[in-house]
Amino acid sequence: MLPQRRCTHTQTRKRRSHHALQPPGYELCPECDRPKLHHAACGVCGYVNRRLSVKPREEKKE
Ligand SMILES: [Zn+2]
Repeated sequence: MLPQRRCTHTQTRKRRSHHALQPPGYELCPECDRPKLHHAACGVCGYVNRRLSVKPREEKKE
């Protein structure tokens, strides 16, 4: 099965006008002022929000 009609260049370009990638949401950690991802724990100090923080993963020494 094939589409009945070929899309016009304008239809193709209008559709693809929404396909651009957006950069991930960065914010600065309020604890250590280093960039972290929004809604994620800080990789340096483990801060999530005022009530919650997690231990940052320690790098393995081999
Ligand atoms: Zn931090």
